[in-house]
Amino acid sequence: MSQHFNFQHSYQTLPAEMFAAVAPARAAQPELVFYNHTLAEQLGISPLDNSLAALYLSGKQLPANAQPIAQAYAGHQFGHATMLGDGRAILLGEQITPAGNVVDIQLKGAGPTPFSRRGDGRATLGSVLREYFISEAMAALGVPTSRSLAVVATGEVVRRPQPHPGAVLTRVASSHLRVGTFQYAAWHPNKKLLPALVNYAIKRHYPTAAQAENPALALLEAVMEQQIRLIVHWLRVGFIHGVMNTDNSTISGETLDYGPCAFMDTYHPNTVFSSIDHQGRYAFGQQAAIAQWNLERLAEALLTDIHPQENTAIQLASAVLDNFTPRFTQQWVDMMHAKLGLMETANELVDDWLTLLQNQAMDYTNAHRALMRAELPQEEAYHTEAFTKWWQRWRPLHDAGGQAAKELMQAANPAIIPRNHQVNQALNAAEAGELTAFSALHQALKTPYQARDLGDPFTQVAEAHERVTQTFCGT
Ligand code: AMP
Ligand code: MG
Repeated sequence: MSQHFNFQHSYQTLPAEMFAAVAPARAAQPELVFYNHTLAEQLGISPLDNSLAALYLSGKQLPANAQPIAQAYAGHQFGHATMLGDGRAILLGEQITPAGNVVDIQLKGAGPTPFSRRGDGRATLGSVLREYFISEAMAALGVPTSRSLAVVATGEVVRRPQPHPGAVLTRVASSHLRVGTFQYAAWHPNKKLLPALVNYAIKRHYPTAAQAENPALALLEAVMEQQIRLIVHWLRVGFIHGVMNTDNSTISGETLDYGPCAFMDTYHPNTVFSSIDHQGRYAFGQQAAIAQWNLERLAEALLTDIHPQENTAIQLASAVLDNFTPRFTQQWVDMMHAKLGLMETANELVDDWLTLLQNQAMDYTNAHRALMRAELPQEEAYHTEAFTKWWQRWRPLHDAGGQAAKELMQAANPAIIPRNHQVNQALNAAEAGELTAFSALHQALKTPYQARDLGDPFTQVAEAHERVTQTFCGT
């Protein structure tokens, strides 16, 4: 049989407690809705006709060399420790790409697993389309993220509790190792799990850490660097993850798990969309602090592998984590200077800008693009004394940076983002079988930095009646 995938199965070399073999459900009537041909080609997946893609990527038929498993993990959900695991995700294998990279090919929504608890292991078409769409938009924005290869409708009904069409998403990630995977290993009675997992993660993601004097500590530091980089990207584009539980926090530093995530329109650091985040734990401006909290949980899980003496281990880990704030702050400051096209340090100007955005409830995306125009913007939103005053302070500093300062702004400020009201409208139509709006938005978001005319529909903020105030996990 010809092989469409070039799979390896390194995860199965870990101790057996780390995963469970599982067969995907046989979808009633799988039908391919979206296939990401560009990504498939990059990954070196041989061309599949639509019906075979629907069979493979619903899980109804296994590719010749697949070895499906669900991964075990734990996690702090909203601060509370829980045992979890892939309740509705099944790893088919690790694709070796033509460039020699290794990525997980995982089916999300392909039926129950030993970790499903009370869940049905399924996903709704709406939630799957949303993840496909937003993860691909994030990739185009240059934000590290899991990718989406395909959406297959299952022809089945999923109850939430209302009936919805069911679907399976094929998720692609450099791995699905999470902070919660390490918590699972650390909390397990079998003490062999943690060192095996540490070795595995180092080999897969941070091979140079193997040469460090203390590899587990070097792993912690490398994960911290990638998490900082990720959060700074989120803050740059206005992304709010919504459920930064430790089980959704990756070791690779990729964005994972698109549930109630949303993009901020009007700037305010307290912005929250998720219907389940009552305390604002995962608000826009909280994300760095939460990433730091999650890294502390990772450090705790790694302690026994960092040093046999707990006190020494804590000291070593704390010394690494103490660098979080200065490193994050430096990268955040650099990012904000790039957004404002400033080549020289002007921290007060940056702070005043954010205060202005907040006080005048300005659109985070559009306001930055408005600064990229040659003249003082004339629309009503910017027609205030406070804005004009700030602009007059900023302009000469920006101009002093010349072409390089313009290029910084161009690369840091998207012209369009997935706006919640547009995403919702497109998804509602798509769930009803009308894909035109969805495809148009998806197409536009492939080049988010390309300049847009004033009045371009994709740059329009929501009218009062269109505003989205809440998003749901929509599992
Ligand atoms: P999430 O909020 O998507 O990160 O999910 C948290 C945990 O719940 C993970 O272990 C998921 O696998 C599990 N889960 C979410 N939805 C379902 C479902 N419909 N069936 C089974 N498990 C689920
Ligand atoms: Mg999750």
